[in-house]
This record gives sequence, C-alpha cells and structure tokens, in this order.
Amino acid sequence: MTGKQRRKMRHDKGFCVECDNPPVPGRLMCANHAAMDRIRKARFRSKGHCVDCCKPAEVGHIRCSYHLDLQRLANRSYYRRNQRRLLEASSRIKKKRKAEGVCTGCGAPLYPDTDSGKVTCVNCRIAFFKGVL
Ligand SMILES: [Zn+2]
Ligand SMILES: [Zn+2]
Ligand SMILES: [Zn+2]
Repeated sequence: MTGKQRRKMRHDKGFCVECDNPPVPGRLMCANHAAMDRIRKARFRSKGHCVDCCKPAEVGHIRCSYHLDLQRLANRSYYRRNQRRLLEASSRIKKKRKAEGVCTGCGAPLYPDTDSGKVTCVNCRIAFFKGVL
C-alpha cells in the first residue's frame, strides 16, 4: 500500500491522515498536523520551493509548473462538478442582496445619489471595469 492510499484510508475512517486524532472539519488533518503542514508550506514558500514537492517553484507561484497544472486541473474539475451548486448559491446570494437593496457583489449598502438604478456599489463597479480593461 502506498502512502497515498494509507492517507486516504485514514481519511475515510475519519482520522487525521497523519495520526489518530479527529481531523479539523473539512480538512484532512487534525489541528496539530494542520498547523505543522502550514509551517512546512510556509518554509517551502519562503525558499521559493513548490509546497507539494519542494522542487523550485514557478516565479510568482507557490508551486512548480507540474503541480500548478495539477492544481489548475483540480480547480477546474471541482468547478465543473459543483458548477450548478456554485452558480445556484451565488445567484441566491445575489437575489437576496437585490431584495435587500444592497450591492449584489459585496453586500455593501447602496446610496440613492451615486447608485440609483444600479445593483452594485461604486467599488464593485470600478473593480468590474478594471477587470474588463
Ligand atoms: Zn494529526
Ligand atoms: Zn511540485
Ligand atoms: Zn460592492
């Protein structure tokens, strides 16, 4: 059995992947190991090494090109798998904010003089335009 399989089995049984403590909800590890993992990753990052394999990281990233790709793929498939749920959640939030008369982007209150007829606050509109340009 590989280390990966062992970790998965531990996780499936409801243990921290590194020890027999219960994991932090939503995480693979207990609070102790999560903290150790964070420190380890911070050390790799400060040396410019990939946090997953300690090879030199890509400039401006915390991972090597191989793990960046993996991460991108993982994000994409996570998004694809949960697309409907994510979209539903965000449109639910937007609807609620609209009904409350606050910015649909960030929930800040809207002002009749600057934001009349708009559903987003001035900050979100600026951010949006900056993103487009
Ligand atoms: Zn642990
Ligand atoms: Zn790597
Ligand atoms: Zn806003």
